[in-house]
Amino acid sequence: MYFLSDLEHKLLINKLLPTAREVGVSSELRGWNWHTPPLKPFYENVKLPMYTVCSKYCPTGRDVYLSFVEGVRGALNFKIALGKILHGVVSDYLQAFIQHRNLSFDSWVEKIRWSEIPAKPEDVLPPARKVWNYLAKLCEARYVEIEARQPYASEQDLIASTVPFLIEHKISGELLGLSGLLSIDCYDYLHAIMFDLKVGGEPKEWHRLAPVGYALVFESVHEVPIDICCIVYLNMIDDRIVLKKDLFFASDELRNWWIEERDRKLEIVAEGRDPGKPSRSECPNDCMYYDVCYG
Ligand code: SF4
Repeated sequence: MYFLSDLEHKLLINKLLPTAREVGVSSELRGWNWHTPPLKPFYENVKLPMYTVCSKYCPTGRDVYLSFVEGVRGALNFKIALGKILHGVVSDYLQAFIQHRNLSFDSWVEKIRWSEIPAKPEDVLPPARKVWNYLAKLCEARYVEIEARQPYASEQDLIASTVPFLIEHKISGELLGLSGLLSIDCYDYLHAIMFDLKVGGEPKEWHRLAPVGYALVFESVHEVPIDICCIVYLNMIDDRIVLKKDLFFASDELRNWWIEERDRKLEIVAEGRDPGKPSRSECPNDCMYYDVCYG
């Protein structure tokens, strides 16, 4: 899932890293400069989750107003249910592998709280099992390949080389005006790449905001630079797993865009200002708040 292919590796080595070294990132846009403008949040009493800052699903940000000012709960749908289940499969499988814990798919399923998943088990479990098996094959193949190259490495070493990932790493985004309880999908600490997993849907430019935001938060807390981000798009097409990756340099332009979005969303909540609706044709039909806005 978070493993780079040969081509992606070439892109990283021959294009993205040289660009990051040559162009660089302005020092005021490194997360560790959270205490000075432009990173310093203007509204200190409001803290938002990362998805709220980064989502441009609603063109005007009215979803943020409805959720955080009006306290309206959106209607969950199948897309959200599948996203939750597949995110859970990926993170729980990888965490069990990293901790060298025996966890079967069936025992994982027993722990699902179905009251929180707005879908029938028979609709979401077949793709979940597919993703589970895919990860198992991939991790085991990588493990035995590395073991054959490093016969004197300990088991712990081999696992760390196979999956050099922090999965669902808990981190506070408070220095940047975000929630104190953020969770990072994956950070590859050998290659310093911030990953974000997206289930379903086609790539959009604004999807880059989330991993850039997590890179900024990581920089603000741990004071290490993160120049490269990657979005992993996981789709199921005709029962097949389809993976696409968007690997990119976390440039000044993207960092500035993230700051603009953060400031705009913080202002909506701090001022309690309804940003209004866009024209109806711009609203996605499956928006969680469609019935609230147009019901
Ligand atoms: S229905 Fe439209 S205006 Fe309302 S929250 Fe959704 S996208 Fe925004």
